[in-house]
Amino acid sequence: MNRAVVVGGGVVGASAAFHLARAGVETIMVDRKDPGHATFAGAGIISPGTSTRPLPAFFPFAQVAVAHYPALIAALAEIGQTDTRYEVVGELILAMDDDELANLLDLRALYAERRAGGMPNLGAVSEVDNATAKQMFPALADIHGALYVPEAARVDGDCLRNALVAGARAHGAEVRYGGASIKVERERVVGIELDREVIAADGVVIATGAWTNALLSPLGFAVAVEPQRGQILHIELGDVDTSRWPILGGTGDQYMLTFGPNRIVSGATRETGSGFDVRLTVEGMQSVFNHAMRVAPGVGSGTVREIRIGLRPLSADGLPYLGMVPGHVNLVLATGHGPSGLQLGPYSGLVAAQLLTGNEVEADVAPFAVDRDPVANSYVGH
Ligand SMILES: Cc1cc2nc3c(=O)[nH]c(=O)nc-3n(C[C@H](O)[C@H](O)[C@H](O)COP(=O)(O)OP(=O)(O)OC[C@H]3O[C@@H](n4cnc5c(N)ncnc54)[C@H](O)[C@@H]3O)c2cc1C
Repeated sequence: MNRAVVVGGGVVGASAAFHLARAGVETIMVDRKDPGHATFAGAGIISPGTSTRPLPAFFPFAQVAVAHYPALIAALAEIGQTDTRYEVVGELILAMDDDELANLLDLRALYAERRAGGMPNLGAVSEVDNATAKQMFPALADIHGALYVPEAARVDGDCLRNALVAGARAHGAEVRYGGASIKVERERVVGIELDREVIAADGVVIATGAWTNALLSPLGFAVAVEPQRGQILHIELGDVDTSRWPILGGTGDQYMLTFGPNRIVSGATRETGSGFDVRLTVEGMQSVFNHAMRVAPGVGSGTVREIRIGLRPLSADGLPYLGMVPGHVNLVLATGHGPSGLQLGPYSGLVAAQLLTGNEVEADVAPFAVDRDPVANSYVGH
């Protein structure tokens, strides 16, 4: 593989471009920067052990993906890219009422079962009382109970993507902006077309998130991926140092996490069926603000700094699509990471680069085959 094109500049495509360029492949990454691209809005929680709903095939891959993070951060640091805001800060799984307390007991049993099954990132789960939880997260409301998972980490998806793009450039990659289409001649992918210019390549990675089917359909192929809108709130808390506060989970789909020096990120909506509608809505914001004030009323005096909207590339069975596109020996697809793309995506980008260059892949990606039947998988929720 001498020359590769990566279509899509979210966290998955940026990682694929970084790893291809780092491996010495002449790499061109093309991104259309669509409004609502998911990586910009992603919260950044990296804690697969506390995920409750994915299919079993998610977990072995997620473990490898999370274990890959420190090596990736080190590889970026080697070339001066240190601003990813990746940090292990721990997670408090909260119970704000008696129903959630009952759920907490179930979660405790689930985590013990996972730990006994060899899952990392759940090593020292402990119970935490109200006073201790408030010391850890001073803006917190009174709680009925909590579990603390010290291994949970977070990352700023936008910073990580920017670092990966800069890293890819440092390794010689070219970055272009605009909408690409796949160029096929005599049933072989020969590159892409961008603004009527043909960019020849020996292989192409498609990492176009929620927009993937528009690119695949001229090839007569489609995957079960749809956009799922997420609205998420960014708050600044005056002179308070929030840089080491833990992630807050356990309260349904919504959560809270922090970044330094004083940022709180709270959300997010999960609006399945939203289509490509990237509007900020009244009911979306109401649910996000209600959650923030219920869980951490101490943020009430904070400043609303920003509201982000992203379209998660949601697959029908909740698993990514990661593999060769059937009928093509030099076309790799990496999408469908749904609510877990910041956890999995950097590693998926590496796998996409390995698949395209014919290198060995450590993780088992068979469950993510591009031509699988997602309807055959039973997925319990989005
Ligand atoms: C509110 C919210 C919270 C989230 N929280 C978390 C979290 O805590 N943890 C976690 O792991 N994940 C989280 N996610 C999910 C995560 O952000 C996504 O799964 C991930 O960012 C998807 O990355 P991607 O590269 O596949 O897609 P995207 O980031 O959407 O990037 C796709 C890119 O492809 C480009 N593109 C599309 N078509 C073309 C074309 N034809 N030519 C050129 N470019 C094209 C688009 O413009 C876009 O820039 C969250 C997502 C949202 C929205």
